[in-house]
Amino acid sequence: MPLAPSAISPHRRRLLASLNQVRGVGPALEKRLAKVGIITIEDALYTLPLRYEDRREIRKIAQLRDGCREIFHATILAAGEVASPRSRRRLFEVIVGDGSGKIVLKWFHYRKEWMLRRFPIGRTLAVSGEVKRFGAIREIHHPDIEFLGGAGGDDALLAQNPIVPIYPLTEGVHQKMMRKIWATLVDSYADLCHSNIPAEFSRQRGLLPLHQALRQLHLPDPGPNWAGVEAALALARRSLVYDEFFFLELGLALRRSGIVMEQGLEFTVTHRFTKPLAHLLPFRLTAAQRRVLGEIKNDLMSSQPMHRLIQGDVGSGKTIVALMAALVAIENDTQVAVVAPTEILAEQHYLQFHRWMEALGLTVVYLTGTLSQRERRDILQRLRSGEAQMVVGTHAILQEDVEFRRLGLGIIDEQHRFGVRQRGVLRKKGEHPHMLVMTATPIPRTLAMTVYGDLALSVIDELPPGRMPIKTRVVAENSRNRVYDFIRREVASGRQAYVIYPLVEESDKSELADATAGARALKEEIFPDLRVGLLHGRLHPEEKELVMASFKAHALDILVATTVVEVGVDVPNATVIVIEHAERFGLSQLHQMRGRVGRGEHPSHCFLMRSFTCSEDAQKRLAVMEGTTDGFRIAEADLEIRGPGEFLGTKQSGLAEFRVANLLRDGRILEEAREDAFRLAADPDFLQHEKFPALRQTLLERWGSRLELAHIA
Ligand code: ADP
Ligand code: MG
Repeated sequence: MPLAPSAISPHRRRLLASLNQVRGVGPALEKRLAKVGIITIEDALYTLPLRYEDRREIRKIAQLRDGCREIFHATILAAGEVASPRSRRRLFEVIVGDGSGKIVLKWFHYRKEWMLRRFPIGRTLAVSGEVKRFGAIREIHHPDIEFLGGAGGDDALLAQNPIVPIYPLTEGVHQKMMRKIWATLVDSYADLCHSNIPAEFSRQRGLLPLHQALRQLHLPDPGPNWAGVEAALALARRSLVYDEFFFLELGLALRRSGIVMEQGLEFTVTHRFTKPLAHLLPFRLTAAQRRVLGEIKNDLMSSQPMHRLIQGDVGSGKTIVALMAALVAIENDTQVAVVAPTEILAEQHYLQFHRWMEALGLTVVYLTGTLSQRERRDILQRLRSGEAQMVVGTHAILQEDVEFRRLGLGIIDEQHRFGVRQRGVLRKKGEHPHMLVMTATPIPRTLAMTVYGDLALSVIDELPPGRMPIKTRVVAENSRNRVYDFIRREVASGRQAYVIYPLVEESDKSELADATAGARALKEEIFPDLRVGLLHGRLHPEEKELVMASFKAHALDILVATTVVEVGVDVPNATVIVIEHAERFGLSQLHQMRGRVGRGEHPSHCFLMRSFTCSEDAQKRLAVMEGTTDGFRIAEADLEIRGPGEFLGTKQSGLAEFRVANLLRDGRILEEAREDAFRLAADPDFLQHEKFPALRQTLLERWGSRLELAHIA
């Protein structure tokens, strides 16, 4: 049965309805919630409380602990607006007492009339909030209030459910309002949530069904004590996380098996081009390169299409390995496409590949979005006819009108910027071509399982011999001149230097202006006597190439650049790299940039300039760079600091986005879900499984477009 997209189930349709269907949600509230991404009923169900309070744990005011969130019952003694003695700002105060003591409740945002009506003297409250002490006075700011006794009291509600969920707050939406609406919502809709995970897995892993887990997390069962509540919440959360991971992994498993079932091109290794290349290279491949190349050749010679990821730190020599793989494809009379995420990187690859391919008498063309119509037509024609054995370029290669005579191997240099979908597009330009994905950022295991879960993995875990370690130092603004002196000395002894200005978004005009101005100053004021080149994204491709070529040929001493040299540039004589505003970059990016030096026989240095405004956290982060040059450890630290979304730059891939799961904490659950999903997908009777139609439905709803599942038979 094919995994064709099917209609949305009636249940799901109700979950995808807008929130205004829910009692208590009017247009104003709907708008506020939409601002934080809560649009549908399903979004709301997956907006989980941040924490819970046990309203049975009531203290006396005298026993409240400073700095803790506490709950107590008290009577209103006084209420009114006052001016803060320090800031003269107005605020609303309510003084309450319970016989054991008094405490002040304060609000800084309020409507006076409403507050006066709300807090009449003599009324009894249940108060919860964080207790602060200022000298002899204790206060709670913006406490959470329930009214006890009298008409309209909250007693009944509290008695019924004393475990109170605390939701992430949105401006203008109060906890109490959130709670009321969410209680209604869960009551009327949670039961519609079914994901149909086979019962054998839920039983084995001891998990709750989806609807029960959601209900438990929103309306926790009070149970006999708090420990019991916590255990039940943990189970509910684990069940939701498993549920999220299970479907991702099932999708990846089906992708993998779908690919494996295809008939691939069975190459033979003739050595016609690989051997001459080995003779041309000025070095021998490292053991790690040879091992990875062996793994790739095995794949290429088998009847199933290769789907492999090469992971290797900056400078580990991935390009040569990719070139060798390309030559095998060319020996078998097929073509090769190399896709890079940015124009600069594509250019770099083109130059590298072109150099060796030309020496072997082969033709490479270069395809990006900035070519003229005529050039483009010409290149497309040479690919269609098979005259060019290889094309290197940007995503322009993925466009529909780019056709090959016979595409045998697709190589994607990811740097995390492509997703599964782009891989699919390239694959469809041939008949089940082999695919090789390269990435320079070591990806922590849990993340690799989700983002590259359908690829086999090869790791180049060794750098070419003779690499000198790079010394890294974080430098404050006031030591800037010493860095410039250092550059002078290195240049005097014949070396070259990079100075990098941050340009996080190439489209950010103010940043670009900053970078350009900084670069000019460096050229005209600091090093007027040295040969300084400037490289930024707005230059014409030919100009860029010219600047880069001059630097490479040592016609320039210093290359000032925006982040464009992040990847790919290879100048062994460069031994210093200065990175301005280092705190603006992720650690993995810094690691990539730092990898521009340390490529030759001389010791290299990296200076990370931090601004005056650099926060303490950022300083700590930068210190990681001083301590290690191990890309793996840096990636892990980076992931921990920035979270998977930013780490991957994933707006494109969309793969690391989970509603509940956290890749850093939930690795164990991920492994369990993966094991189960892959086992299920490998079962020859899977398609006959009674749950199959329902599973397929859920899978398509959640991951169909992101994983391109519709195309897998
Ligand atoms: P990356 O893995 O970062 O893409 P490259 O493929 O660009 O690394 O290689 C970095 C540099 O190391 C290049 O100058 C390349 O020619 C050189 N290189 C690659 N393999 C070896 C090797 N086995 N011995 C010496 N130098 C090598
Ligand atoms: Mg490279």
